[in-house]
Amino acid sequence: MKQQSLIFDIKKYAINDGPGIRLTVFFKGCNLSCEWCHNPESISPKVQKMYTASKCIGAVKCIENCPNDALKMTSEGIVTDYNVCNFCGICAEVCPAKAFEMLGKFMPVEELMKVIDNEAAFFDQSGGGVSFSGGEPLMHADYLLQILKACGKRYYHRVVDTTAFAKTETLLEVAKHTELFLIDLKVMDDKKHKRYTGVSNKKIHKNITELAKTDVEIIFRIPLIKGVNDSNDNIIATAEFMNSLDGSRKVINLLPYHKVAENKHKKLGTPENFILFEAPEENRIEEIIQLFDQYGIKASVGG
Ligand code: SF4
Ligand code: SF4
Repeated sequence: MKQQSLIFDIKKYAINDGPGIRLTVFFKGCNLSCEWCHNPESISPKVQKMYTASKCIGAVKCIENCPNDALKMTSEGIVTDYNVCNFCGICAEVCPAKAFEMLGKFMPVEELMKVIDNEAAFFDQSGGGVSFSGGEPLMHADYLLQILKACGKRYYHRVVDTTAFAKTETLLEVAKHTELFLIDLKVMDDKKHKRYTGVSNKKIHKNITELAKTDVEIIFRIPLIKGVNDSNDNIIATAEFMNSLDGSRKVINLLPYHKVAENKHKKLGTPENFILFEAPEENRIEEIIQLFDQYGIKASVGG
């Protein structure tokens, strides 16, 4: 059987996932479940379905064609009974208004490489390349390695955006075929990390320490959230951790929280999973940049 993986999106002309103009491939499935995740559709490793009520024109083609009688019309629009829906995708195919959208497509290596090759002219002109994000790309390690090696043969610049929550051997193997890693340092306090992401950060920190012993480039990121990780204690602990690493690991991007996930949870039918957070105020973000600077670390918003 051909090797394939579940991909939920491929973004062309991406400019925030590494240098230059990039093609970003989003894998489906994540072994963390961050309460603030702005891609909640990436967490489940299975195909999912999104429904946008505002697009629905009431054509009811979906209801007529659903083989499992999983759909019914309500005052809120079409509602799916997930006890009987088998994610066959027929409702998305027949809906003339595209109100249903299937999330996740199994793509063989060869098919993804064709998509990547089609963008190669932009990589050359802009100093860009291919970025692998998610979800968690390392959950698809065998497939990822095949793609990374194929990209390497073509001299495409390769970025892996990862939680680093994986087997150390896997991470180090992937590092041999990657130019740049983007890694979040979400919360340094382990209890808080477990509470907000579902996993301990001990393995993540051990893996980052090992990765830093190689010569691969690493840019750290913080999804900056008021009351979760914007305290002086957390910023100082983050800076001290970065300064404890081998090599020059002195760049961190601050990604202030935004509420984009609220709408996605509604479309996924999981509004109960949405927890509202806030970004720190602008003057607090400026203080955080200054604090990192005192530790010799260049912090900036975005990236
Ligand atoms: S690691 Fe990223 S993709 Fe996974 S749950 Fe957290 S924010 Fe979402
Ligand atoms: S995905 Fe298939 S089973 Fe589920 S609601 Fe749509 S048509 Fe019915």
